[in-house]
Amino acid sequence: MHEASLLTTGATLVAMAEVIDRGARVAVNYAGGLHHAMRRRASGFCVYNDPAIVCALLADRGMKVAYVDIDAHHGDGVQAAFYETDQVLTISLHQDGRTLFPGTGFADERGSGSGIGYSINVPLAPYTDDAAYMRAFDAVVPPLVERYRPDVLLTQQGIDSHFSDPLTHLMVSTRTREHCVRWFGATPYPWVAMGGGGYDLDAVRRTWSMEYLIMLGASIPSELHDPDPPVATGARRTMIDEAVDGAMRDALAAAFR
Ligand SMILES: [Zn+2]
Repeated sequence: MHEASLLTTGATLVAMAEVIDRGARVAVNYAGGLHHAMRRRASGFCVYNDPAIVCALLADRGMKVAYVDIDAHHGDGVQAAFYETDQVLTISLHQDGRTLFPGTGFADERGSGSGIGYSINVPLAPYTDDAAYMRAFDAVVPPLVERYRPDVLLTQQGIDSHFSDPLTHLMVSTRTREHCVRWFGATPYPWVAMGGGGYDLDAVRRTWSMEYLIMLGASIPSELHDPDPPVATGARRTMIDEAVDGAMRDALAAAFR
């Protein structure tokens, strides 16, 4: 486990070097994004926290880092590593911690000391679908990242938020992921991308293939997309929309000015 974890961590370091030292527009390590590992313990299938290690190396070079985590689980290990600093902005969109591991990631976890307002959490209700997820993403991620003006963008792109994932209860499809990853690619910031969770292997291979094509600027074959994504209706629609409204409002209110 130690040696395999060193390899996945090292691959994210290589991705960082490609972007920072060799001028690549984007580099991705889909074996990385192990965002639950803590400073002194493994957690949630994660032994070493490659996103936190890369954020720290960049911060040590004096760079401002925006870390955006769209895995279905809260990026708790990365948040914990930079909770007291404004040099790394962490934004995590995830299924509400009352219903999913690791049980954290609420809007009032907003940092401490000089880090107040630089830990941003958007907890989403179970059954959040494409329309609601994209609305939350657009309301929080572009405005805060643009306000922060980072030197580097890091993204954790776990696809356990997919509607067919067996471990979580979010209901997003490849449509949401195309939307988010196209925004990452449209920013002017050097971009280091990572994978993360993803437990329906058919959704993983299609989504990450699609995202890779977006990074390459290539067209997306229709067979990579979900043909018929779920759309919430009725009382569930109302519940999801109200929850997303509240999460957006609380996240923006918690953010730095
Ligand atoms: Zn996850």
